[in-house]
Amino acid sequence: MNLALLFNTDFIAPDRALLTGRRRAHLETVLRATAGDSIAVGRVDGNMGTAEIVRLTEDEAELAVTLDSRPPDALPLTLILAMPRPKMFRRVLQTATALGVKDLWLVNAWKVEKSFWQTPWLQDDAVTENMILGLEQAMDTVMPQLHLRQRFKPFVEDELPGLIGDRKALVAHPGASAPCPTHLNAPTVLCIGPEGGFIPYEVAKLEEAGCQPVHLGQRILRVETAVPVLVSRLFDGCR
Ligand code: SAH
Repeated sequence: MNLALLFNTDFIAPDRALLTGRRRAHLETVLRATAGDSIAVGRVDGNMGTAEIVRLTEDEAELAVTLDSRPPDALPLTLILAMPRPKMFRRVLQTATALGVKDLWLVNAWKVEKSFWQTPWLQDDAVTENMILGLEQAMDTVMPQLHLRQRFKPFVEDELPGLIGDRKALVAHPGASAPCPTHLNAPTVLCIGPEGGFIPYEVAKLEEAGCQPVHLGQRILRVETAVPVLVSRLFDGCR
């Protein structure tokens, strides 16, 4: 937790907030903070800044909050992921959030097991919790939007072309003839397949919708690795 994310319900006055539970415990056990220390904070979907710990008890931490800086720029990226297996989904959700993805779509594919859609990690509170962890890690405040599409064909035929609009669109696919572009730094739609990959029919449908197949070299990467590799190739996040 490099930044404590504050929710409207945490505020007891315009510049005062109370932390309880995990975030209070983190202050004590990981940051080893005491009353009088300052920590980095951000208000969900709002500004970031600092907070002085004015009181720290076993139950709560009272913070005097100053929110005076903007969160980092969002990635100009729509990320479309074939629904990963539950454990992977949780990690990818945190990682994508930490990387600055704000528009995330989970879609079905032939090699997505039906049971993946039943995972408790897809429940609203679990999704929010993992997004919070990603935002706190990266020091950001803006919650990503998550969209679920459990039918591949209607999504790709009816929705994807409009979603792409006049943006660049790519599908990461091992063995594609073109290498993934670098330093694109432009609004982009990126599709990433399931653990078993997209089948040729799916790649053809994605191409029809306007996505160009691109590869990342000979090595086949796990989805959780492919996401940061692709994002850092396409966007110069460390400028
Ligand atoms: N056996 C599968 C591998 C899937 S890896 C196959 O051959 O297609 C899971 C997903 O990560 C892929 O669908 C792709 O979107 C992405 N990926 C992993 N390694 C990649 C690479 N070298 N080039 C392009 N995409 C890759």
